[in-house]
Amino acid sequence: MAAARIPEPVLVDYDAARASFRWEEARALLDGLPGGRGLNIAHEAVDRHAAGPEGERVAIRWLGKRGERRDLTYHDLAAQSSRFANLLTDLGVARGERVFVLAGRVPELYVAALGTLKRGAVFSPLFAAFGPEPLATRLELGDGRVLVTTPRLYRRKVAQLRDRLPGLRHILLIREADDDEPGEIPGTIDLLSRLADASDTYTIPDTDPEEMALLHFTSGTTGKPKGAVHVHQAVVMHHIAGRYALDLRPGDVFWCTADPGWVTGTSFGIIAPLTNGVTMIVDEAEFDAERWYGILEAEKVNVWYTAPTAIRMLMRMPNELPQRFDRSALRFIASVGEPLNPEAVIWGREVLGLPIHDNWWQTETGGIMIANLRCLEIRPGSMGKPLPGIDAGIVEHREDGSVVEISEPDREGELALRPGWPSMFRAYLGNEERYKKSFVGGWYLSGDLARRDADGYYWFVGRADDVIKTSGHLVGPFEVESALIEHPAVAEAAVIGKPDPVAGAIIKAFVALHPGHEGSPELIRELMAFARKRLGPTVAPREIEVKAELPKTRSGKIMRRLLRARELGLPEGDISTLETPSSS
Ligand code: ATP
Ligand code: MG
Repeated sequence: MAAARIPEPVLVDYDAARASFRWEEARALLDGLPGGRGLNIAHEAVDRHAAGPEGERVAIRWLGKRGERRDLTYHDLAAQSSRFANLLTDLGVARGERVFVLAGRVPELYVAALGTLKRGAVFSPLFAAFGPEPLATRLELGDGRVLVTTPRLYRRKVAQLRDRLPGLRHILLIREADDDEPGEIPGTIDLLSRLADASDTYTIPDTDPEEMALLHFTSGTTGKPKGAVHVHQAVVMHHIAGRYALDLRPGDVFWCTADPGWVTGTSFGIIAPLTNGVTMIVDEAEFDAERWYGILEAEKVNVWYTAPTAIRMLMRMPNELPQRFDRSALRFIASVGEPLNPEAVIWGREVLGLPIHDNWWQTETGGIMIANLRCLEIRPGSMGKPLPGIDAGIVEHREDGSVVEISEPDREGELALRPGWPSMFRAYLGNEERYKKSFVGGWYLSGDLARRDADGYYWFVGRADDVIKTSGHLVGPFEVESALIEHPAVAEAAVIGKPDPVAGAIIKAFVALHPGHEGSPELIRELMAFARKRLGPTVAPREIEVKAELPKTRSGKIMRRLLRARELGLPEGDISTLETPSSS
């Protein structure tokens, strides 16, 4: 198959871009509301394209789980989101009030998100698989005024919560054709008919760039999920990160596989692609290797943004599988959410013909901070370099509570950022103390440990909570896990510290195997020897246990704290985001 001509990277010269970068220039790539009335995410994402020649370009190509397809052009999306904004106005929803969406990846979710932003209300996505309790906690903390959901989800999860949520005034239901209990549900509003009745023109009110726009809950990997507040100005970061780190340009076909229930699915699954004028693929279905390769082929995806868990699942399939599909349109693959093992980068190169570009960020940072950019050489296992405009550092905590930057290369410390980038969170909702504690000595402290090499590449070591102290050494789980998954039998690995009277802690690894392998005592012995050879005796695991699956958050992150709690017989803590096989 003939490879398409691959255009130059959007960002060609990293050092020059970094040296000359100014946020005002990044802001100038956007329009601002007409008449200098501020900055609104939805205007930048849809209205400004809809008004111009790109109005007829497909903004969202929706692929339904039963094979349906629906295209929404920029023009359609602008009109639909205006209808939604008008509906909110009719309902008396005030600016700054929270609109939650609990739905699968359906077009109305995107319409609601953008319409909410137009209105100046706050969009907060919820993962459709959440049970009633996690929903109640988030709706309470966020003081939800409106909830957009489906009749099915409403009946199963929300109806029982109404008494507990007096502030939740409006429930808008997305009717589904295959609902087996059709008919009106008291106390709810039929969204589709109300949208049809609403006007499709809406003038976005003046929007202060510092107005609250988004409320995102963290993944709950290390504890109770926190509600991070973001403002309209974040769009400056989304836009520039889309260009620099994802290499997006107008007209591209882009597929972000993350669910909008998480920050990735909003910042880079709604906002950044639209501000950059791309056609984005929205797949309603869950992961399926053949379907995914089929989408890359049929939709001629140019840029693909996914996550390590998905990549590791693809790696579990025979290497012949992707060869059955035409991937010639694809020019860039990126990954986020967890450390990307070097093995995965190499697999990408060998099996997909393209390396996978890891990047690092958090709910709190709102957008990509550190990335393997197209114009830079990839160092497998590294997160890459800070984007132009982002100042990162490795810091050390002193006993007096202060932090100091470590300037020598290759030393481990906490990954920190200089505050001031536009998508920095502005609060942990309802937890000001925790927010304040995240900023020390002019740094935002990420809670992750990393090191920087002499050439400025950052290497993830582990979450501060997950790092293990064994016989006087600090060991990051990531390097042990990466060594284990180099073994052909190992698909996934998670490493914890287990208290030990002599060593302080010993290293224990949990592994999930590729199909066709058995967790026999011989294999365990072989893995132990394999790890010792690669890591040396201090860092190699002393215990290895085979598990069918490793516990993960619904956003696909391995929950080491849960493995640790279960191993040590401790309370499991908040498991509202735990992915369970029976969920969905
Ligand atoms: P919580 O804060 O509730 O414990 P969480 O930190 O997993 O959950 P997110 O904000 O969704 O919630 O995830 C951000 C975290 O994910 C980062 O702090 C980091 O630990 C991890 N992460 C994201 N991308 C990468 C990456 N490329 N390499 C290593 N770790 C990553
Ligand atoms: Mg976190």
